Amino acid sequence: MPNLQIIIFKGTQKIRNVQIEDYIKAGKIAAEVREKVRAKNWVGKTVYEICEEVEGEIKKRGAKCAFPVNTSINEVAAHYTAEPNDPITIKDDDLVKIDLGAQINGYIADTAVTVCYDAQFDVLVQAAEEALGNAMSMAKSGVKVSDIGRTIEKTIKQLGFKPIANLSGHSLDQYTIHAGKTIPNIWSIGGYSLSNSTAYACEPFVTTKDAGGFVRNGKIKNIFAINSRKRIKDPEADRLLDFIWENFNMLPFALRWITKEWEEKKARGLLEILIKKKAVQAYPILIEVNEQRVAQAEHTFIPNENGVTITTITL
Ligand code: MN
Ligand code: MN
Repeated sequence: MPNLQIIIFKGTQKIRNVQIEDYIKAGKIAAEVREKVRAKNWVGKTVYEICEEVEGEIKKRGAKCAFPVNTSINEVAAHYTAEPNDPITIKDDDLVKIDLGAQINGYIADTAVTVCYDAQFDVLVQAAEEALGNAMSMAKSGVKVSDIGRTIEKTIKQLGFKPIANLSGHSLDQYTIHAGKTIPNIWSIGGYSLSNSTAYACEPFVTTKDAGGFVRNGKIKNIFAINSRKRIKDPEADRLLDFIWENFNMLPFALRWITKEWEEKKARGLLEILIKKKAVQAYPILIEVNEQRVAQAEHTFIPNENGVTITTITL
């Protein structure tokens, strides 16, 4: 999942060895599942089937989902997950970003792959992968994130495409997907340097030359997260709030994940109340402003003295 513009600074903590182990375990699982996703032909499958299957693969390997699997199609760049029994079906000319997260004790691996079955879009997917590869090969502690952004932008432009300027990677923390620092996908003034033993996600988004190169919020919101644990004094809504905290902590969740406990209509109503009271926030889907297709690639990495550990790489 990418970060959109406004960020809340929470400060990143130094990672201890036990935490590194959990980051690595989560990364291995996320990478395995991502490669399975990449190899499969999803044409004819519904987004509901994709989300449930991919989330099942993560759980089967002993991790929890760090967020609902995102299946963002074509001009939708990010933040779409399946509704309960969502009937949207993958067509043979669709470009689908499948973004998945695994967590162990709250330590997250965030990774994404773009699948497409129409050869004309392969170059767009390749551009995202190449930009990510170039960014990863320069990542180590002390490197300025503005230089990473420059490399990503340069790689994408040289291939004849545009980066999405207002989507970025992000630092990670325990039970926190967007922990306050960003990894830009374009060159920008200032910024900070990568720090030793902080986990980050890098995620270039690539679109066509005719695109605006920005995303806007869409109307659909089907990913949510807790904002505040303060009781709202509605017993049923408070019970849902407790359930969310106990099961997902501060991490994003989907309606699909609560309709196992609450009937769908009831769950929607209670969620609406929690959103209105600002106990829960809803993430809108993010759409390319000129409705052009978008491809994405993503890895999670931890810089160290000698270079970098890419937790979601496959050897
Ligand atoms: Mn992601
Ligand atoms: Mn991410």
